[in-house]
Amino acid sequence: MNTPDDRSPSSRPSASGDTTHFGFREVPAADKQRLVGQVFSSVAAKYDLMNDLMSFGIHRIWKRYFVATSGVRRGDRVLDLAGGTGDIASLLQERVGPDGEIVIGDINGDMLRVGRDRLTDRGRVRGLRYAQLNAEALPFPDASFDLVTIAFGLRNVTDKQQALNEMQRVLKIGGRALVLEFSEVKHDWLKPLYDFHSFQVLPRLGKLFAGDGDSYQYLAESIRQHPPQAQLKAMMEAAVLERCDYRNLTGGICAIHSGHKL
Ligand code: SAM
Repeated sequence: MNTPDDRSPSSRPSASGDTTHFGFREVPAADKQRLVGQVFSSVAAKYDLMNDLMSFGIHRIWKRYFVATSGVRRGDRVLDLAGGTGDIASLLQERVGPDGEIVIGDINGDMLRVGRDRLTDRGRVRGLRYAQLNAEALPFPDASFDLVTIAFGLRNVTDKQQALNEMQRVLKIGGRALVLEFSEVKHDWLKPLYDFHSFQVLPRLGKLFAGDGDSYQYLAESIRQHPPQAQLKAMMEAAVLERCDYRNLTGGICAIHSGHKL
């Protein structure tokens, strides 16, 4: 049987372990967390507006579908990693009900603050907890959660394999790990449109509405550097998640990967 330490070299920050991608730039692996932190601190206040503008609101449909098909049940304890401003947590909370609990974990205090204020303003307090954490080193005992989710977060993590290992570790037996992430577009006709939108439109929207074109250039580049569907599935298997599978959304612009701890 595999153990979480049987990791493929391609899933580590780099073959040598010293450098990794930050968008299209190759940077020291030790620097990526700080650079990603700068991106999200810079955009935190405008993050939700930008999501709607960039995706024409479609991110809301992807997130609703992600949670609706998550298999989450009333009373579940769920960890939403890279939870940011709380979209996924808010949808999960409706499903776990008053006896369940959602822990929103994110490395960035600015994103967590925006999320906490936004959810609190909507009266969403009960059953929600916030934890500033690194997905690569979760501060929870083994077998703590029924479900662990990460939406549009994994591609920002320096050591993605380690984050998947940690997701597996904190799951209870029978629990499920779910990843919603941008992925590889599968339709040839869609690729040029998607590239135009990514590299010409997004940085300009970022500059105009968030005062930061570079962070949205990073967004477009980081998507292209993220492991495509089959590779991410193999990484989940390497994390000893079982019955791993994925499903494309909107022609592969996004994919939902799932795996179980059995
Ligand atoms: N899940 C939210 C959503 O779908 O709207 C937020 C996604 S946002 C694009 C990515 C989030 O990942 C940011 O809030 C960022 O701070 C967080 N993040 C990046 N690296 C992380 C890490 N190593 N551990 C935990 N969170 C991380």
